[in-house]
Amino acid sequence: MNLHEIMNLDETYYMNTFGKRTPVAFTKGSGMYLYDTEGEAYCDFMAGIAVTALGHSHPDFVSALKKQIESVIHTSSLYYVENQAKLAQKIVENSAADRVFFANSGAEANEGAMKLAKIYHYKKGNPQKNEMITLTHSFHGRTLATVAATGQEKYQKPYRPLTPGFSHVPINDIEALRAAVNEHTAAIMLELIQGESGVHPADVDFVKEVRALCSKNDVLMIVDEIQTGMGRTGKLFAYEHYGIEPDIFTLAKALGNGVPIGALCAKQFAASAFSPGDHGTTFGGNPLATCAGLAVFDIFQKEKLVENAALIGSYFKEKLLGLQNETGRIKEVRGLGLMLGVELAEPKAKEVQKKLFDKHYLIGAVGDSILRLLPPLIVTENDIDLFITALKECLA
Ligand SMILES: *Cc1c(COP(=O)(O)O)cnc(C)c1O
Repeated sequence: MNLHEIMNLDETYYMNTFGKRTPVAFTKGSGMYLYDTEGEAYCDFMAGIAVTALGHSHPDFVSALKKQIESVIHTSSLYYVENQAKLAQKIVENSAADRVFFANSGAEANEGAMKLAKIYHYKKGNPQKNEMITLTHSFHGRTLATVAATGQEKYQKPYRPLTPGFSHVPINDIEALRAAVNEHTAAIMLELIQGESGVHPADVDFVKEVRALCSKNDVLMIVDEIQTGMGRTGKLFAYEHYGIEPDIFTLAKALGNGVPIGALCAKQFAASAFSPGDHGTTFGGNPLATCAGLAVFDIFQKEKLVENAALIGSYFKEKLLGLQNETGRIKEVRGLGLMLGVELAEPKAKEVQKKLFDKHYLIGAVGDSILRLLPPLIVTENDIDLFITALKECLA
């Protein structure tokens, strides 16, 4: 099909939740590049919104999945699943968690995290501890409870009344957080770098205070690592930058490199609140999805991709700061590793995004003035140099 035919089909049959999309459809991918219906190559600095960490069609990833598809795709949670057990072990051995549960998406992993926080207090005989504190400008997903958790009015407005029991405090506001914690607080949930709302990092002092408040008040600390996790920030998990360990954290996005999977990860004291029957899933952790997760860990290790994210990430940030000095068109460069945000001095993010698209670069734009850069973890210095040249031309 050509692009025009695809667009017509979409406009006739697909629910209009995404509106007018960027007018392109990709039919093939390889490494840093995506190829459209005309065979034109685009350099991918968005990675499917922080999903395809290995780049496109990584040969080892493809062959692992092919082999799994030829063996078995799905068996259900009625039976033991080798890949599921092995991927849980991988995550536990490389993180602060003792136990893992697999879901199919980020939102679903967060739902599991909030259910776990509630049942933890319920089983301790404190059912009144059933409320969550999250941050304004956060993003935690699109299900009803995760929309209530998400501190952005635009996602909540049409869905009132929202799931009750959520309050929001501004990021890095320790006093507001202290004032919000009370005898009903079950958990504090936060992203360490708010991604969707424009790459806003939490301060180390703030995160340490969240940790201290949680420990002091028997409140669970939930870190949403759906975007920041799996090497994106230059460490396997972003909490490693902060010198703290969460009680619960969630993963999705890059965990399956594009095969849908989410993970709810917790320390034993919290995880043990789930007894048989308290939570469940049909697809979650099936042999195919967990094969993808295992292949991601495998390739991360073989190709030192987390280390690459740290190295190339700081190279990228340096180059962006150089552009800031040179052009005067950049107000601020934020983020860690390969999760970077560029706030422009003028509200021209959409325009710059379009200009880069015309040069065959894919990036994100948040609001009117923030560029969002999330290249695959395989990105090289050379890829960065070419991108910086293109961005400079677009800013001129
Ligand atoms: C993308 C994202 C989610 C939602 O994940 P889905 O797989 O779209 O449900 C939740 N939290 C954060 C921080 C995210 O970036």
